[in-house]
Amino acid sequence: MKYPFLLLALLLALAPVLPVSAQVVGQSASAVPGGAPSVPALRFDLTRPEMRTAYREASARLDGALAGIVAAPVAEANFANTVLAQEKAVGDYVRAMIPLVFNAHVSPDKGVRMTAQAIDKVMNRRFVELGQRQDLYERAEAAAAKGEKLDDADQKLLDKTIRDYRDSGFGLTPEQRTRLKAISTKLSDLSSRFEININESKDWLEVDDAGLEGLPADYKASLEQTPEGKYKVGLDYPSYVPFMRYAKNSELRKALNHKYENRAMPENLPILKEGLELRREMAQLLGYQDYPTMALKDRMAKTPQRVADFLTRLTGKVRDRAKAELAAVLEVKRRDDPSATELGDHERGYYARILREEKYSYDAEEVRQYFPVDRVVSGVLGVYQRILGVTFHEVAGGPVWHPDVRLFEIVDTRSGKFIGHFYLDLYPREGKYTHAAAFPLLMGREIPGGYDQTAAAMVANFPKAIPDKPALLPHAEVETFFHEFGHLMHQTLTKARHMSFSGTSVALDFVEAPSQMLENFAWEREVLDEISGRWDTGEKLPEDLFQKMTAARRFNEGVSTLGQIAMASADMALHALVPADPSAEFNRVVAEITGMPQAPGGNSAASFGHLMGGYGAG
Ligand SMILES: [Zn+2]
Repeated sequence: MKYPFLLLALLLALAPVLPVSAQVVGQSASAVPGGAPSVPALRFDLTRPEMRTAYREASARLDGALAGIVAAPVAEANFANTVLAQEKAVGDYVRAMIPLVFNAHVSPDKGVRMTAQAIDKVMNRRFVELGQRQDLYERAEAAAAKGEKLDDADQKLLDKTIRDYRDSGFGLTPEQRTRLKAISTKLSDLSSRFEININESKDWLEVDDAGLEGLPADYKASLEQTPEGKYKVGLDYPSYVPFMRYAKNSELRKALNHKYENRAMPENLPILKEGLELRREMAQLLGYQDYPTMALKDRMAKTPQRVADFLTRLTGKVRDRAKAELAAVLEVKRRDDPSATELGDHERGYYARILREEKYSYDAEEVRQYFPVDRVVSGVLGVYQRILGVTFHEVAGGPVWHPDVRLFEIVDTRSGKFIGHFYLDLYPREGKYTHAAAFPLLMGREIPGGYDQTAAAMVANFPKAIPDKPALLPHAEVETFFHEFGHLMHQTLTKARHMSFSGTSVALDFVEAPSQMLENFAWEREVLDEISGRWDTGEKLPEDLFQKMTAARRFNEGVSTLGQIAMASADMALHALVPADPSAEFNRVVAEITGMPQAPGGNSAASFGHLMGGYGAG
């Protein structure tokens, strides 16, 4: 890893005062008005042995704190010395561990990523073990039985603690509990392997000049080349999506789509199958009918039936519209093939793009010229600063994991008080997380005399700059940026008293709501004036282009909404039915709902990360 000299000097200067782990409990940086911005108490330059040491130290501190809790007799347990003490101990642990584990998603060094994955695995195991500790459970129940008068925030923590223990299997026979523990451990391993396999899966299509016919010149310039002079079209969004929309050669699109639909294959299919089986077994051990029933009880939707009703209602509203949209796209295909009666997976994006351009004489590539990344980033940051009453200062020379990464300090505009930090890691790299997401790094909580500093990182895969031209964002990515930035703010501006409810630690079916609202800013004329500026002339997005975009905004929305409903339904079906062949069942449900047959040989379930991540079953 290479670091700019300044950063290296800074890290050396910090090294003696910082513990080797990134723990910053009780320490809060303060912004000096007019002074240099603070840096977060985080390090991304740890060697692999140092990472392991940091992990061991954090674990030892956790063990010590928990030993202190259980040293007191059960009869003396109360909210403060048990539930609150455990929340603090686990909070300290989480604040030390998450920055280490984060490396698994972003480190440019494969060895560091692997060490971080290994630490993630043992950390998750520790959480499973923690949920199984009889001594802690007894004290939590004893504390709850005291019936102390607690305010809402504390009562919520007490309720959650008891509920989590009960879902860990207290009340089961010892044999059942042993089995439950084995299942939980295995499930956490399976779920991280599922995601890692998606991130690490790498494939590409090699095409020659002719194969790129129809694609913009910028696109060609952005592709890697083989020694033989062929172009490598990868499966990351900036490579895959334009190819599927613009490449004239249908066979090549089909070949690329096939690779895309088989990411993380074959390794993820057995993981998915086993994961679904274990989730069902776990739910049934705990007395629930199935996994969806168990998973949904703590979410806003509450029951699988309500999810099913919602999806059915929504399907009824969009199906006719989607049908009409597809028929219009099929008409475009018929110009090439008059006898065509259906659209393949690899044809929908291509013909829909042609129709869209004709109908709205609107070219997404043209729009992109108005959204150079730097302009969008500074514009969006400006909008957020205004609406949320915060001020961001870019920090030069702070701790980062790659030279592309930018670091900012957040200050409350009115009081000038320091709040936290956020990172922007926007461009694709090998081995990096392949989607756009906001990762909490330091989760907030009240500490004696104040609030612990927060930090979070946006990780995205925006197109990179090409020679003589800055990186330009499609408008959809501008929306993504607004969306993910909303998560960053949710994570860093949190005022939750307890870390268990900090930032985006909310009901899973609520967590997207703030960002989904905030992304609408990307369609406000006033906001677009602030965030657009043609890369060569600086001109703002012209009004006629804006009008066309707005008209085109709802284009094919029926089809895309139906696609989302199909994936949600397939997720619910897989978890409820636990089919022998999850991939086939996934394709069957998707085809049934969308009315579009899936390309043979496709296994998109294998790379649908949410299935095995925390979002499963609703
Ligand atoms: Zn989101």
